Amino acid sequence: MSIEQKINQLRDELRAHNYNYYVLDAPTISDYEFDIKLKELQALEDEHPEFYDANSPTQRVGGEVTKNFETVVHENRMYSLDNSYSKEDLQDWETRIKKLVDGAIQYTCELKYDGASMSLTYENGMLVRAVTRGDGFQGDNVTANVKTIKSVPLQLKGDYPPKFEIRGEIVLPFEGFNKMNEERIANGEEAYRNPRNTASGSLKLQNSAEVAKRPLECLLYSIKGENLGITTQFENLEKARAWGFKVPDVAKLANSIEDVLEFVAYWDEHRHDLPYETDGVVVKVNDLQQQEELGYTAKAPRWAMAYKFKAEQVSTRLNSISYQVGRTGAITPVANLEPVDLAGTTVKRASLHNADQIEKLDVRIGDTVYVEKGGEIIPKILGVDLSKRPQTSEPTIYIEHCPECGTTLIRKEGEAQHYCPNYNGCNPQIIGRIQHYISRKAMDIEGLGGETVALLVNEGLIKNYSDLYELTKEQVIPLERMAEKSADNLIEGIAQSVNIPFERVLYALGIRYVGETVAKKLAKHYKSIDAISNATEEDLVNVDEIGTKIAESVADFFSSEENNGIVERLKQFGVQLEISAEQLEGQTNILEGQSIVVSGVFESVSRNELKKLIEDNGGKVSSSISSKTSFIVAGDNMGPSKKQKAENLNIDIVSEYQFLQKIKLF
Ligand code: AMP
Ligand code: ZN
Repeated sequence: MSIEQKINQLRDELRAHNYNYYVLDAPTISDYEFDIKLKELQALEDEHPEFYDANSPTQRVGGEVTKNFETVVHENRMYSLDNSYSKEDLQDWETRIKKLVDGAIQYTCELKYDGASMSLTYENGMLVRAVTRGDGFQGDNVTANVKTIKSVPLQLKGDYPPKFEIRGEIVLPFEGFNKMNEERIANGEEAYRNPRNTASGSLKLQNSAEVAKRPLECLLYSIKGENLGITTQFENLEKARAWGFKVPDVAKLANSIEDVLEFVAYWDEHRHDLPYETDGVVVKVNDLQQQEELGYTAKAPRWAMAYKFKAEQVSTRLNSISYQVGRTGAITPVANLEPVDLAGTTVKRASLHNADQIEKLDVRIGDTVYVEKGGEIIPKILGVDLSKRPQTSEPTIYIEHCPECGTTLIRKEGEAQHYCPNYNGCNPQIIGRIQHYISRKAMDIEGLGGETVALLVNEGLIKNYSDLYELTKEQVIPLERMAEKSADNLIEGIAQSVNIPFERVLYALGIRYVGETVAKKLAKHYKSIDAISNATEEDLVNVDEIGTKIAESVADFFSSEENNGIVERLKQFGVQLEISAEQLEGQTNILEGQSIVVSGVFESVSRNELKKLIEDNGGKVSSSISSKTSFIVAGDNMGPSKKQKAENLNIDIVSEYQFLQKIKLF
């Protein structure tokens, strides 16, 4: 088999596995096996850039950066839908349309997915464009981002037409949404409010590699184009499914409004079993000929109607408000409710988010409040039933002091959350920070768990993470349920953590807004904790991808005597506070801020070595040429289309040796 055949075979195989996994939810190989095959394909493509394909399964990881999304005029306007809320509304609609078309009317009932509308264009079976709805007439070209969504086929299967547009909804399933929020909270960031806004926000991220990390899905519902040979909406769905799109198979045909209402009633009850959010049903006239006769009003098709579910709400009494203090000192007000059944669970608490929210809702203790449960972890309060407000009720006054340590709270300009500034003296902050320090992605200390950390702090054995290194077995054995063996493991685990590399230690310190990626960036740029702590805010913002919020937070951390003392102690215990000599070798900042494309085959280095050289010298490897490309390193066999693109954009092309000279290796 030739290399080209091998590459094509792997691409086909991976496409099929992607389809089984993301569209059918029925994988036939393990994630591990999938990764091995993907890596194999990546390696072959790296070595043979002449077989580059923008729609290869390797292109799903993203990496393209978009500064301004290009505006695209929709070939067919993207309309809204009219809404209905009752049986009467639907019957009125039927009466209206029956006057406009002849013959019996059959309906397709579908779910109304709550996400961001999307228009995808395919030519010769390849995805060529993905555009947001925008104002309905024109939207943003977000192709690079949408390519990373695994349920969007990059290449179709079956007997698809040469050119068509397909519409759907990009949604963020609850499970992935909740996981993203857990991570944000762990990094000291505010949680996202709901899956819909997060999905549409994701499409506008400038770095497609970030989008690739989000578990978005694309659910399709309508095909547009010429000479498609499709005569009904139901066929639309079947065809799309056959070509490889994800089309939920809940759609049903209905011969009357009674049938439609049956569908509505079923899903009103069962929608909470779905993995993503739905806010109603969309009823469409099934016959496309009839649809055409009915046409559009100024804003919506006459042939379709949305039926909105009533939000699942209950009312109950607000007994009290408590205030929680997080690891970063952020205060979250929580409503304690009279327990009530809602969507199959008993609800006792609801989030109130922050002081502004309390003020906006004007919720008061003793009020009867409306509570709604989306797919979020904790339900939300929608409003107050003022008719039931007790006469004695008084406005809620937000706390001014930390409920844990009594310190006066602060609130920064432009931020919604109040903070307890008692960084090193407030128990939940101390415990949270040490729990973060030992966590798997940070110092990964085996034998020590979150509850033990709380015990150690509450017993007064440790006050910050540097104290961990002075713990003795004799001190920990008396702790609850601590057997001798466990005590040994704990001490051993702590001792082992001095081998964790600097970038992870930096993340472990728990500086607000310094997540894993930022920690890596800072470690690479500054190479030691001393250099970071000496950097001014102005220095910090000059580092690629470090914004003012992060810079301020880092400078703030190191302006504290106490923090510097703790870091100093970590150093004495042997924790890695600089990049090791091995890591340091051959690393410079010569290419900092530059985005470099590698193309072709090289003589003295492999493509992968070349990419590593770029990264070791502070540059960024980008997979496609754009106006932001700093230069291209070209070897033999650079593709003609890439060459043309580089010339059009006036981007320098340098040879392998010119490149090595740049980084002073030649
Ligand atoms: P609205 O934005 O409330 O006017 O509703 C129209 C939007 O509903 C469309 O732009 C689609 O994004 C969305 N939608 C969700 N599910 C469907 C579906 N099954 N059929 C048509 N539109 C849908
Ligand atoms: Zn406090």
